[in-house]
Amino acid sequence: MGVEPRGFFGVYLLFCTNPRYRGRVYVGFTVAPQRRIGQHNAGKRRGGAWKTSGRGPWEMVLIIHGFPSDVAALQFEWAWQHPHTSRRLCHVSRRARRETRFDFHLRVLAHMLRVAPWCRLPLTVRWLEPGYRQDFPPALQPPLHMPLAFGQVRALGRARGPGEREQGEPGEGGAGAWGGCTLPHVCLPLQDVDDPPLRCFQPGCPLAAHPACLAREFLREEPEQLLPVEGHCPGCKNLLLWGDLIRYHQGCYGDLEEVPGHWTEELQS
Ligand SMILES: [Zn+2]
Ligand SMILES: [Zn+2]
Repeated sequence: MGVEPRGFFGVYLLFCTNPRYRGRVYVGFTVAPQRRIGQHNAGKRRGGAWKTSGRGPWEMVLIIHGFPSDVAALQFEWAWQHPHTSRRLCHVSRRARRETRFDFHLRVLAHMLRVAPWCRLPLTVRWLEPGYRQDFPPALQPPLHMPLAFGQVRALGRARGPGEREQGEPGEGGAGAWGGCTLPHVCLPLQDVDDPPLRCFQPGCPLAAHPACLAREFLREEPEQLLPVEGHCPGCKNLLLWGDLIRYHQGCYGDLEEVPGHWTEELQS
């Protein structure tokens, strides 16, 4: 298991508000949600997809983010677009005659978040537009480690890498200053001592580990899995989400900026 490339990878749902095409939806992949919605509404010449071209305006109502790579996000996008060709979703029934396309896509999404491999990813389900928000049915709730979030986000530019932390932050020391895993077990073979270690974001925690070595530690209870969901940090004993550790490692813990003044305030008032 290598270190995933850094960055924001999201799969979104667009809703068409043009009265002539009202009710159409579109599923797409993006690394920059705000730019992407602009492209869809500007049409084909500005990089919009042909299916959305000339049928706008579109609203980006929902985005799933936290995919470890573009490949993982693209696979999710494909399955959401083609649920009946995905063998992982053969239990999802076809769209009922009275079910809107929007409701159908939410139902497919709810199932997707609950089956492998997606149920183990450190995903966030984010509603971008308040008027469209719906709760998942009680029987189809996403796994507990996937937060529900609300409001617009913007993917920030290049974030700091783990070797570029400021003085005083946890994990200071950076690449090159470590002497191998602090785990109580021998390292897995083929671990490179020059790769920057995974560190824990809890203040004062001494953990430094190869990603693969720590993954093995977290998967002790479920060795048949490849990707951990969570585990107790061998350094500070806190329960940590694997996705948070990876995000911190990639320097993009906090890689998203909430766009203020949208509807988080509405919810609070
Ligand atoms: Zn190691
Ligand atoms: Zn720790």
